[in-house]
Amino acid sequence: MRTNRDLIKSLFTLPFDFKQWERMVVLPHIHPDGDTIGSSIALYHFLKTLGLETIIVNNDTIPVSLRFLTSEGFATSEAFEALGWEAGSYAVIVVDGSDLTRVNDRIEIYEKAAFSLCIDHHITNEKFADLTWIEPTASSTGELVYELIMANGVEVTSTMARALYVAISTDTGSFKYDNTSANTLRVVADLIDTDFDVQEVIVEVYQNKDVDQVRLLQIALNHLTLHQGGKIGISYIEMRDVVSAQIENYDTDGICEAIRDISGLEVAIFLREIKPQIFKVSSRSKHQFDVAELSMNFGGGGHKKAAGFTMEMPLEEALEAILNCLKSKVSE
Ligand code: 5GP
Ligand code: MN
Repeated sequence: MRTNRDLIKSLFTLPFDFKQWERMVVLPHIHPDGDTIGSSIALYHFLKTLGLETIIVNNDTIPVSLRFLTSEGFATSEAFEALGWEAGSYAVIVVDGSDLTRVNDRIEIYEKAAFSLCIDHHITNEKFADLTWIEPTASSTGELVYELIMANGVEVTSTMARALYVAISTDTGSFKYDNTSANTLRVVADLIDTDFDVQEVIVEVYQNKDVDQVRLLQIALNHLTLHQGGKIGISYIEMRDVVSAQIENYDTDGICEAIRDISGLEVAIFLREIKPQIFKVSSRSKHQFDVAELSMNFGGGGHKKAAGFTMEMPLEEALEAILNCLKSKVSE
């Protein structure tokens, strides 16, 4: 039987030599999550081991639950520019990003690269890079990065393993989602064998909620409405809510999942106002409903059961547009 692992490994038989470059820029996607950050950090250490001068360029706030991983390797675009790396003197790797909007404010750095790679597991990947490694059956980009490091004969250190554990654990909902394959768990077993402190990681990532996050959940639950006999749940947070509740840490991670987990609910939608009248929308589904398709209707993408998009319009219009689209697809 051809296993998921064979499939992934076959990707790396491509004639590919990282050492053809001396410098590499790693680009996590905007609004970074555990998978993009963990995978970027593991790639950073891997590329350094190969002898490449490497830097991770990110301008976004890193979620509090991931900051324990980020002690080295990161720079803002400004700090990167100060290094004076000339156009054409480096390659880039886009990590877990399915289209160039995910590179966003680092597009100039991307365009000045001599070569671009993309490593991703989103089925909606637009194959924008010079070379794309996409494996939609992989649980996470972290699972692919593990295979990549192994295929290149580099030892996975406990530092790399800890970052990859975070990548895989967060993108599989702690190994609960149906993207969690036997291969995923084999990789995780190998990672744990490198002997990092798993319990420390669990406390940092999952048991470390800022009270602001819990208050944001409270606000979102106050705004929750159910539709189509309880199959659709939709909620939102506006910037004025954040201001009036004096919230400093606007981290809404996990809110859409909390809505999804309601019994009988099929589709959960959560809108978060990131700039006046600009909403980042998260969508989650439980059984058959395809939220990647829904998100693509609105210019976004993602996975069948977890996807997202951005809307620029007043809240009421955004809610109505999403609900109209959903009601035509979900019967009562
Ligand atoms: P989240 O709701 O946690 O922000 O995102 C869920 C999933 O959808 C992630 O896998 C993420 O990569 C994808 N996603 C979220 N927003 C966007 C978007 O605007 N465009 C695309 N292509 N994917 C997105
Ligand atoms: Mn991912």
